[in-house]
Amino acid sequence: MRIDVITIFPEYLEPLNVSLVGKARARGQLDVHLHDLRSWTTDVHRTVDDTPYGGGPGMVMKPEPWGAALDAVLAQGADALASGEGADAGAAAGAGEGSGDGGVPAGEVPTLVVPTPSGRPFTQELAQELAGRPWLAFAPARYEGIDRRVIEEAATRMPVVEASIGDYVLAGGEVAVLVMVEAIARLLPGVLGNAESHRDDSFAPGAMADLLEGPVYTKPAEWRGREVPEVLLSGHHGKIARWRREQAFARTLAHRPDLVDRWQLGAFDKKEREALSVLGLRWDGEAGRFRSVADAVEE
Ligand code: SAM
Repeated sequence: MRIDVITIFPEYLEPLNVSLVGKARARGQLDVHLHDLRSWTTDVHRTVDDTPYGGGPGMVMKPEPWGAALDAVLAQGADALASGEGADAGAAAGAGEGSGDGGVPAGEVPTLVVPTPSGRPFTQELAQELAGRPWLAFAPARYEGIDRRVIEEAATRMPVVEASIGDYVLAGGEVAVLVMVEAIARLLPGVLGNAESHRDDSFAPGAMADLLEGPVYTKPAEWRGREVPEVLLSGHHGKIARWRREQAFARTLAHRPDLVDRWQLGAFDKKEREALSVLGLRWDGEAGRFRSVADAVEE
């Protein structure tokens, strides 16, 4: 996968050289290009912001440098096509591998990811969707954000995803890019040592969708008087899987009742339904969701 990041603080993205993402880059699984937005300014002060139309506090990022930067990044895909890197490179990238020379999927356009608190939530599902794309370009902003016309114009030329990493406001989008790139990179084929390891993660599609992972333990079996739950030492895979799932139910109920609202009765077998009723949950067929017995009594 190729990743371009356009920012006024390329140094903020240094952590992309470390750990899992750094190793993926070193192995050629991830081809990251950082661009300084100020390279596309034309004045002596290298200005990227101006006062907002309509008044109000803060500054807004000017459209011209962003437009020129996106043109330049897009041109690299077109250049790859013109230079005859051609169909093979494009096909390889489509299969989720690096396309070799610079990682530019020939003739492709990137998906533009714009971090913003007003975007759609960046979820595991969205990470999975973006991990399937051969080329992502990130546009992290500063100040009050980027002039809206940049996003609208970009959307006429490439897919655009505006994404928020949570219900809080950061000073800039670079940290959000680090979050998103790490979540996406660990889903790429071959990046995690054990390809199975993200299957049991919280939110993983399939059995863990809308579930948080329960507690995990390692050796020693006893530490400061605290013992590892016996079932985990039993060697009984079926019982362990069931225990883990029940722990996931309890943790999700405790920390994310909003996810419990999405659970459907048909997703649970008989024993799991018993476990849910031990947690005080019962199926409300009329409402089409599980309700806690305590809530039902209050009503
Ligand atoms: N005025 C904007 C608003 O209220 O929506 C906030 C601008 S914020 C100070 C500057 C930049 O930080 C944003 O344009 C975005 O790039 C980034 N940012 C801040 N919070 C974010 C979040 N929760 N998710 C993704 N990006 C965020």
